[in-house]
Amino acid sequence: MELQDPGLLRQAALVGGEWIEANGAGIAVTNPSTGALIGYVPRLGQAETARAIAAAETAQKLWARRTAKDRADTLRGWFNLMIRHKEDLGRILTAEQGKPLAEAVGEIAYGASFIEWFAEEARRVYGDTIPGHQPDKRILVMKQPIGVVAAITPWNFPNAMITRKAGPAFAAGCAMVLKPASQTPFSAIALAVLAERAGLPSGLFSVITGSAAQIGAEMTANPVVRKLTFTGSTEIGIELYAQSAKTIKKLGLELGGNAPFIVFDDADLDAAVEGALIAKFRNNGQTCVCANRIYVQDGVYDAFSEKLTAAVARLKTGDGFTQGVNLGPLIDQAAVEKVKEHIADAVAQGAKVALGGQPHALGGTFFQATVLTDVTSDMAVAREETFGPIAPLFRFAHEDEVIAQANDTEFGLASYFYARDLARVFRVSEALDYGMVGVNTGLISTAEAPFGGVKLSGLGREGSHFGMDDFIELKYVCLGIA
Ligand code: ADP
Repeated sequence: MELQDPGLLRQAALVGGEWIEANGAGIAVTNPSTGALIGYVPRLGQAETARAIAAAETAQKLWARRTAKDRADTLRGWFNLMIRHKEDLGRILTAEQGKPLAEAVGEIAYGASFIEWFAEEARRVYGDTIPGHQPDKRILVMKQPIGVVAAITPWNFPNAMITRKAGPAFAAGCAMVLKPASQTPFSAIALAVLAERAGLPSGLFSVITGSAAQIGAEMTANPVVRKLTFTGSTEIGIELYAQSAKTIKKLGLELGGNAPFIVFDDADLDAAVEGALIAKFRNNGQTCVCANRIYVQDGVYDAFSEKLTAAVARLKTGDGFTQGVNLGPLIDQAAVEKVKEHIADAVAQGAKVALGGQPHALGGTFFQATVLTDVTSDMAVAREETFGPIAPLFRFAHEDEVIAQANDTEFGLASYFYARDLARVFRVSEALDYGMVGVNTGLISTAEAPFGGVKLSGLGREGSHFGMDDFIELKYVCLGIA
């Protein structure tokens, strides 16, 4: 791969300040578009994880003693390096993940924005003084870093899912031991290279590649780790939650979604189509906030489906490095099978394929952008997250009915709707059982806002000033002044 700074693609893991080289063995990382080998990362496990945690414990104590401004300056330096190298970081990301290069570079800027935001927030972690309960007592509330944090991240945003955990952790004065997804470790390792260059102290940030089960088991069992932050499937999130019970860790869980996208008959249809394209097809449908079920009111159903189908037909599928491509490959063959199953199940129960529906002529894990109409709530696409390029269109008549259907899921991450009536905008925003609601927009995620879900979609919030709370413990000091 052509990089301006070849040092960013490092075939190694960083364990407690020490680089462990892969030396041509370990986990092979391939390009999902071409199948070509990118390189290797070491296959590490329990012992290295324990070592990294021990190093993090030492480094964290010193880091927490620094001034907030000092930590903020270091984070700002890291942010600057990410922006300076965003083209290279984007190339590494596209090579291992498949998303179009422009989207990958966009992710780097978005990912870096969390480091910038939390560098700014670092200096505003204010405690409280509370009037005492007795004349000679004063109550202080200090905010202190929770300590050593373990993080496990997925392949769909190989950069940003790390930075929105690392930003608040380091800003608060915590250390972090990270296990990135095995499909996309090089983006994580590049972040570690830049963290080192920015002067993050040795041992404060480890990136451990290898066996998820072994690394996860040590992270959850080790009492030094006070918080586990995980983004991934609900299934694994439940496992990690259970494993963490014995050491009573704080948990941050960003899990699966099943986002409804509702188009009411008073919506601006062109805007709704544009929003649906972003909410559904970004990252080829492989985000946990992707619109999974598109509900369209009777009166505009035909017009919306025609407009959406025409717009989706203009999306270009191909290799992420090809100019003008909108949709890359799916991450692996299992993802293709899930998309196929959802289409077959829907069609068997009466849905119609308005566009696509087949593996793409490019072969591999490329799949045609697909629009299904006449989709109903009995079909698998209504219940399960597809994580692929299928836009299933459901028809509804009344507001109450669509709210009930939208909420009829065990998930509660993102939701979207398009409407112009102000009373409806408030009613529906309040009625949706979701952590996030996009009203007349298909893109809601930003460093300034609290990202997170309810129900089986998880615990805690990332981003915004609330995002710092998860990495902080409150300490109450009762001061006698007699
Ligand atoms: P996805 O479907 O997005 O791959 P996963 O939940 O399987 O979601 O993976 C998300 C992250 O969790 C990845 O880094 C993966 O390696 C990790 N992971 C998978 N299984 C486990 C496990 N048993 N313990 C800890 N981490 C795991």
